[in-house]
Amino acid sequence: MADNDIETVIVGGGAAGIAAARRLKNAGMKCLIVEARSRLGGRAWTVADPSGLPVDLGCGWLHSADRNPWVAIAEEQKKTIDKTPPPWRRPSLPLGFPPGGQRDFLKNQEEFFARVGERAQQEPDVAAAELLTPGGQWNNLINAIATYISGVELDRVSARDFDNFDDTGVNWRIVEGYGATIAACGDSLPVKLDCPVRRIDHSGKRIKIETAVGTIEADQIIVTVPTTVLAESHGFFAPSLPDKIKAAQNLPLGLADKLFLSLEQAEEFEKDSRLFGASDRTATATYHLRPFGRPQIEVYFGGRCAADLEVTGDDAFFDFAVSQLVGLLGSKFAQRVKPIRIHRWRADPFARGSYSYAIPGMADERAVLAAPVDGRLFFAGEACSRGDFSTAHGGWNTGLAAAEQVLRARKRA
Ligand SMILES: Cc1cc2nc3c(=O)[nH]c(=O)nc-3n(C[C@H](O)[C@H](O)[C@H](O)COP(=O)(O)OP(=O)(O)OC[C@H]3O[C@@H](n4cnc5c(N)ncnc54)[C@H](O)[C@@H]3O)c2cc1C
Repeated sequence: MADNDIETVIVGGGAAGIAAARRLKNAGMKCLIVEARSRLGGRAWTVADPSGLPVDLGCGWLHSADRNPWVAIAEEQKKTIDKTPPPWRRPSLPLGFPPGGQRDFLKNQEEFFARVGERAQQEPDVAAAELLTPGGQWNNLINAIATYISGVELDRVSARDFDNFDDTGVNWRIVEGYGATIAACGDSLPVKLDCPVRRIDHSGKRIKIETAVGTIEADQIIVTVPTTVLAESHGFFAPSLPDKIKAAQNLPLGLADKLFLSLEQAEEFEKDSRLFGASDRTATATYHLRPFGRPQIEVYFGGRCAADLEVTGDDAFFDFAVSQLVGLLGSKFAQRVKPIRIHRWRADPFARGSYSYAIPGMADERAVLAAPVDGRLFFAGEACSRGDFSTAHGGWNTGLAAAEQVLRARKRA
């Protein structure tokens, strides 16, 4: 397809961009995904460990799996769905965190979620941290879990947005990788890789998409780049779109990073079990032992803890994990684990974080971000979703919605 022949350009080839392009291509439109990276998938990214096992450095869980469109796509691709209940739905190993304490913690966390739910209906919106019990014994751990959910501590999250998150509680996985499934879904789509967009000039009749390797023209555009990238890209739109940039700033990406470790004598642990590094502080990692029964540990870091470690480098994550594991399992345990892979999502120039949250008072900015401009600039990406934000199915749904908006706009024109 000649570049001057294109009707719709989709900026970004993650879950949202792939969904949009698939819908438009099926409708017979000439569309093109313009992607900065040398691969499709964005924050969905499966890589192979040294023995060839797939590991997901980005999304791994099919959240709300009973209504998640990626389940059917994975099945179409003949991939294997694993329905083992996730470790956070079962008791964790009692090391350093006895069962009675775990029950007490879960009760307190449920009560906290209920207070957030009640407060979310009232004005004004507040930071979710305001709903913690003052001086509560489990506040630090509730906050640590929040850094895995939102990528940020509760003092920075809108209670209303936190409550808007709509999850059915059914969580499955794809054995061959969520990232591999999403990337494969884009296989037959028209894509230009290694092509970062620098500016979108929408002053003329045709929109000019200025990239690092030349200018592409289109009638419509769907922008799916992550909010923090959008907020930091000065002069991205010409003429400028201050409402969009402000919305992106109010919906920044929090940070969650995953470190994969190989584990010797893994059978000592139950398949898909979990260990908290500590239960008395926010700056802690959690350890998913033997994911899919594999001889690995998947370590989760979130919020300021992850941000501080990112500044020091990859080794800092490994050192942090080993020191917590040795504290719980004894000094010999250090010899049983080796680093496989980590990706620092804050340092990634085309992500700048992991998933979006709304700062207090800003939950409604998701609708502002998602609103079309002039009937020819459209917006998608997980941050545009009211209830499925921060997820890959949220990305898919918003991409599909933006494609439908394009089709309706073309009918009207
Ligand atoms: C560690 C981690 C764990 C996660 N766990 C889960 C999980 O278990 N379940 C779940 O559902 N979700 C999870 N997520 C979130 C999920 O991965 C994302 O919400 C989803 O992939 C976002 O899709 P998207 O299309 O909105 O954005 P992206 O995937 O970020 O796609 C945007 C695309 O735009 C490209 N781009 C950026 N700038 C430019 C530019 N200037 N020009 C051209 N292209 C550009 C990017 O390279 C990217 O490919 C996780 C994310 C991370 C990082």
